[in-house]
Amino acid sequence: MNAPHTAGLAVPRLSRRGESLGTENAFVVLAEVNALVRGGRDIVSFCIGQPDFPTPDHAQEAAIAAIRGGKHGYTPSAGIDELRAAAAHDMGSRRGLDLRPDDVVVGAGAKPFIAYTIASVTDYGAGDEVIYPVPGFPIYESQIVANGAVPVPVYLRESRGFAFDPAELAAKITPKTRLLILNTPQNPTGGILRAEDLDTIADILAEHPQVWVFADEIYSRLVYDGRFESLATRPGMLERTVISDGASKTWAMTGWRIGYVANRALAPVFTRWITNTESCASQISQWAAVAAISGPQDAADTMRQRFLERRDLIVRLLNEVPGVECATPGGAFYAWPNVTDACRMTGCPDSETFRKRLLTEAGVAVLADVHFGRRVPGEGQHIRFSYAASTQAIEEGIRRVSNFVRRNVK
Ligand code: PMP
Repeated sequence: MNAPHTAGLAVPRLSRRGESLGTENAFVVLAEVNALVRGGRDIVSFCIGQPDFPTPDHAQEAAIAAIRGGKHGYTPSAGIDELRAAAAHDMGSRRGLDLRPDDVVVGAGAKPFIAYTIASVTDYGAGDEVIYPVPGFPIYESQIVANGAVPVPVYLRESRGFAFDPAELAAKITPKTRLLILNTPQNPTGGILRAEDLDTIADILAEHPQVWVFADEIYSRLVYDGRFESLATRPGMLERTVISDGASKTWAMTGWRIGYVANRALAPVFTRWITNTESCASQISQWAAVAAISGPQDAADTMRQRFLERRDLIVRLLNEVPGVECATPGGAFYAWPNVTDACRMTGCPDSETFRKRLLTEAGVAVLADVHFGRRVPGEGQHIRFSYAASTQAIEEGIRRVSNFVRRNVK
């Protein structure tokens, strides 16, 4: 339970939901980092999961043209036809699926669809269960709880390249399970679900027709080894899978707030949610996203290539740090080194203490595994580096981590 948000203020009481709403600790750590930087500290930050590149020029130009051309009013809640068509074509062709524009709904980022999906397929307080990956994007658990559903974690295992064991999934499904959340490539581990895992998951779900799937595929264009694969391509899965993707990571458009999902049955429900909440995504950003999706892909391809080079650099450097072991992540832009030995060597009881000392003593900002859910039994201590950072920052940052460990060996 979080500390009451209204502590010390003379206001009427909040709901339990309001009091206990979870958060994304990346934003909390970022505030800590900003405070240190304001105080004159030199910090190398690997906290934030967003591309450090500019939005492609043609997307910027499309936004400017939209503003100048008077395209600044409300749009239909599901998004402009042009973007629904472009997203349907792009998501469909990259996955080998036939998606219709009507199946697609555009929102202010992919994030709101996590809450909309949970709220659309579970009933508050009815004991409906949602299975979700741990470690995982913290908003999954936060929204499961805020929507009165029961969070059921399925653990990602280092020994399986940070995929979960399908047998563990099968054991967690009950008649009360209403939704399975999948994320590939995965935040925070960079792991990907392999084709064989997806086959097995589809076989398991075939036995449980009451379960929807939210396939968080926001990092689908950032796969480095092999081809991106979606569960939705497996027999019988398309109808009950919400495919979620967006502009944030692929075209460096996090602040533009454009995400989109595809599911035929739920598209009208999502549209109603958007009418009830933000009305529509920014029209200006929607035109920029049409250009990003439909225009030249060289900027997106170059970013991917840069991320791949940085991945190889950071993994190599991390593995040279005493007490640190870093598996090579298959996608996204996160490295998730095992720092169990480094914690022990430096007298840190856990990854969160290690993270705090890296920040205050070494000037390196990272997140700890506890920011991504409860500890996975038997998996040791991990921290997360976002390598959406320059090669100089990566070299300097890991040099500082290495010096910190060497300096503090007990
Ligand atoms: N899912 C995952 C796994 C993410 O890491 C993020 C962004 N950090 C999102 C969804 C949300 O992306 P956005 O709302 O910017 O589209």
